[in-house]
Amino acid sequence: MATRLLGLDGLAVERVELDAEGCPVVDLFTGDEQARCCPGCGQRAVRVKQWATTRLRDLPVGGRPVRLRWRKRRWYCPTAACPRMSFTEQVAQVPARARLTRRLREMAARSRLEMCVVGDEGSAIDPERASMIRSVRMWSAIARPASPRSTPAPPL
Ligand SMILES: [Zn+2]
Repeated sequence: MATRLLGLDGLAVERVELDAEGCPVVDLFTGDEQARCCPGCGQRAVRVKQWATTRLRDLPVGGRPVRLRWRKRRWYCPTAACPRMSFTEQVAQVPARARLTRRLREMAARSRLEMCVVGDEGSAIDPERASMIRSVRMWSAIARPASPRSTPAPPL
């Protein structure tokens, strides 16, 4: 049920908790057997190298930011000649090393476009949507690594 509500293909919900601020934290496990096939050679792995937990952000629910914790495996590739040797599970919505789900990233891209159209405070749109856009922008700022080339805004 919770898995269907979340709607992330290949990932299943183990449990949902609320953090100190009342925001959902969702524990996930891999629900797709395809995730254990090597992306290099396609062979199905049988030997686990290690477990890892990926933390990432997803779309807000009910105006509250959602954090995901996906406990996933790193596998040894069973093909001796395969250059990958080992690989980490991934699904379409969460590519390897992603910090945001793909749908949140897409939402962020759309929201930036929307902000250009409606103005920075989002006054022309409803409050729920404006709040979601603020969350997405906040996350985008967090997720974007600080660039050494970025220059501070000039004083007004
Ligand atoms: Zn392989």
